[in-house]
Amino acid sequence: VLQALIVEVIVDVKSRSVDKRYDYYVPDDLVDVAEVGMRAHVSFGRQDCLAFVVGIRGPEPIRDGMKPILEFLDEMPLLGKNEILLSEWLCYRYVCTHLQAISAMLPAAFRDRKSRNLQKTRVYLLPLGTREQLEAALHAKLRKARKQARLLQNLVEQGEMQLAEFGLAPSDPSVRALILEGIARLEEREIYRSVEYGSISASKDIPDLTPSQNKALLAIEHSLANARPEDFVLYGVTGSGKTEVYLQSIAAVLRAGGGAIVLVPEIALTPQMVGRFVSRFGGQVAVLHSGLSQGEKRDEWMRIRRGEARIVVGARSAVFAPVTNLRLVIIDEEHESSYKQEESPRYEAREVARQRARISGAVVVSGSATPSLFAMRDVELGHAKLLTMPIRVNRKPLPSVEIVDMREELRNGNHSLFSRSLQVGLEQTVSRGEQAILFLNRRGFASFSLCRECGACMKCPNCDISLTVHKSGTKMYLRCHYCGHDAPLPAACPECGSEGMRPFGIGTQQIELLVKQKWPNTRVARMDNDTTRQKGAHQKIIQAFLNHEVDVLIGTQMIAKGLDFPDVSLVGVIAADTMLLLPDYRAAERSFQLLTQVSGRAGRAQIDGHTVIQTYRPDHFSIQCAAHHDFQGFYEEEKRTREAFWYPPYCELAVFLATHPEEKLVMGAARRFERELRRSSVAGQITILPASPCGISRIENKYRYQVVVKYLKWDEVRDEIVHAFHIVYQKMNQYHGVCSLDVSAGRIG
Ligand code: ADP
Ligand code: ZN
Ligand code: ZN
Repeated sequence: VLQALIVEVIVDVKSRSVDKRYDYYVPDDLVDVAEVGMRAHVSFGRQDCLAFVVGIRGPEPIRDGMKPILEFLDEMPLLGKNEILLSEWLCYRYVCTHLQAISAMLPAAFRDRKSRNLQKTRVYLLPLGTREQLEAALHAKLRKARKQARLLQNLVEQGEMQLAEFGLAPSDPSVRALILEGIARLEEREIYRSVEYGSISASKDIPDLTPSQNKALLAIEHSLANARPEDFVLYGVTGSGKTEVYLQSIAAVLRAGGGAIVLVPEIALTPQMVGRFVSRFGGQVAVLHSGLSQGEKRDEWMRIRRGEARIVVGARSAVFAPVTNLRLVIIDEEHESSYKQEESPRYEAREVARQRARISGAVVVSGSATPSLFAMRDVELGHAKLLTMPIRVNRKPLPSVEIVDMREELRNGNHSLFSRSLQVGLEQTVSRGEQAILFLNRRGFASFSLCRECGACMKCPNCDISLTVHKSGTKMYLRCHYCGHDAPLPAACPECGSEGMRPFGIGTQQIELLVKQKWPNTRVARMDNDTTRQKGAHQKIIQAFLNHEVDVLIGTQMIAKGLDFPDVSLVGVIAADTMLLLPDYRAAERSFQLLTQVSGRAGRAQIDGHTVIQTYRPDHFSIQCAAHHDFQGFYEEEKRTREAFWYPPYCELAVFLATHPEEKLVMGAARRFERELRRSSVAGQITILPASPCGISRIENKYRYQVVVKYLKWDEVRDEIVHAFHIVYQKMNQYHGVCSLDVSAGRIG
């Protein structure tokens, strides 16, 4: 019998039924190349496909019918052994397929079978004309020429596209059509152009640490030298110098020959932070962000894999970066919701970071000015040690916070959106040449359109949600924030025929307009999803504000995070209540965190800071504790509630979700899942909330039903829950319905 090396592969075929290891043998001429973590080309069934090598054994006898590997696509493995272990854990923890796990870990470029062929040059498609012209062309093509419309959409959003990444040749008819019409052009570029980090430059000076920074650094260094390293929660108020602690911990890791991963909520929102890492560590830093083209991401990945870049800074998926000798994982703004991936595998990067660190023997440092209840639970259980930095580096006090009761304002005849306090504050701030930030958690012009005569509200025809009012020039229109559906603002109410339809509630666009009307000489900028669609837009706005080209910056939570504007002395929170009303068991926590973060933007340098919080619920503990910088008080109160009502982190949660255009089907699926669990052997260990429609019961014409399950430990109930899930999954599959299971869900509904 012939003997050969056997590789175990996961094939790139999207079906749960083939999501298992298949054996192939390695022909003699490829034996020297074969390694775990490589991609290969194999023949599978009647097709050739891409495959990922997850194991090697042998030499062993070649079994009957066993096929050979056709070729390996990589010179060196893309994933190391530790990362393969991690991919297996992802399957176990998040109930995803092994293919989904590996795909989530690798940049998309590596999913392309042809990606081994390095091109000499790359051809880019670039837009010609203004944004308005592009959008008009896009609109005109939406129905008639979908492919062209898709290209235009990409150009509007990304500013350019590399054709090969989209599987397109310059001769493609849709590409030619856009060029002939004069709305796009081609450009050929050399490969390996240097990657633009989109960071804002920072000083290279290394400051002497404050005593509390020093204490934190020593604890981390001590743990790094330990055989069984310990994790940390770094609780430091805004401006206490957490980033400097990260930087110096990383320097220690580099000296010991190790590597580090720094997770940040969103790269585009943290250009200053990225700038500090790049200025300090130069070319040893790889920045992974969504603005990179697929090819750039692949190049950065290989730089990390080859050990040229030893520090990786990136958003949640950077937790998978193949850093050599990983010793430290930093999670900045640990409490942020962006660490959660909302599509399969529905992972929580903080949890993945912990698992990765465990596999590689690395230390996890989770930093925040408002640690999450999860982080604090880790401290309670002894899984992490708390490091505290209670004062700002410059010894400046935290900003004074004033709560304004908007009901009181109304009683006193002030019908404006700005309290008297905020008006006076804004005027004084601007006249002193200082800057202000106005924060509102809702984009658009108004929340919705409401009939004053009959109470009817304009809803999206595709979703169970009201349409948001937007303004373009002087014209109002309606838009769905879930599916993008646009509609005109009706002149007459479709229900009662009256002319009572009016915008109701406020959005950032309206705040911008009102500030401009009231203070025509004030320079205003707005930063939200609508003004930052284009690549580099965040950075432009931030830079303009830093350059004092803008006096008042208005924005959504985008402006609340990690930004350091030395001349901001006033922060106004327009409506603190909006966040408390979210259908999320963490609504109180989210409010406290956002209020603390946003007020932390004031008074960071020489000037004293002041924050005005406008609210209709001045007594709510989230608002009170944020105003008094009372983290401990907030934490104890919230902890009591979570314990009493059995919510995470005092239990774990899994949310089953079924979606389909037919309501009967999703209701049936959810009920079946519930029934299976109720008669399973773990029924006594879990709490099952009855199958019910989600908070938003329909999106894009698909109905949504859910089942929430609470339990103490995933390990104890996993098999039964997954069993029930698979039964329903297969049934739904027959009807092309989709169902998912989310074991790290925050939002319920
Ligand atoms: P945080 O991340 O906790 O909000 P930062 O690390 O951004 O705080 O620090 C706030 C400011 O103080 C930054 O401008 C930083 O450069 C500066 N800084 C940090 N540590 C020191 C130090 N030990 N001495 C002087 N300045 C420092
Ligand atoms: Zn009406
Ligand atoms: Zn919609």
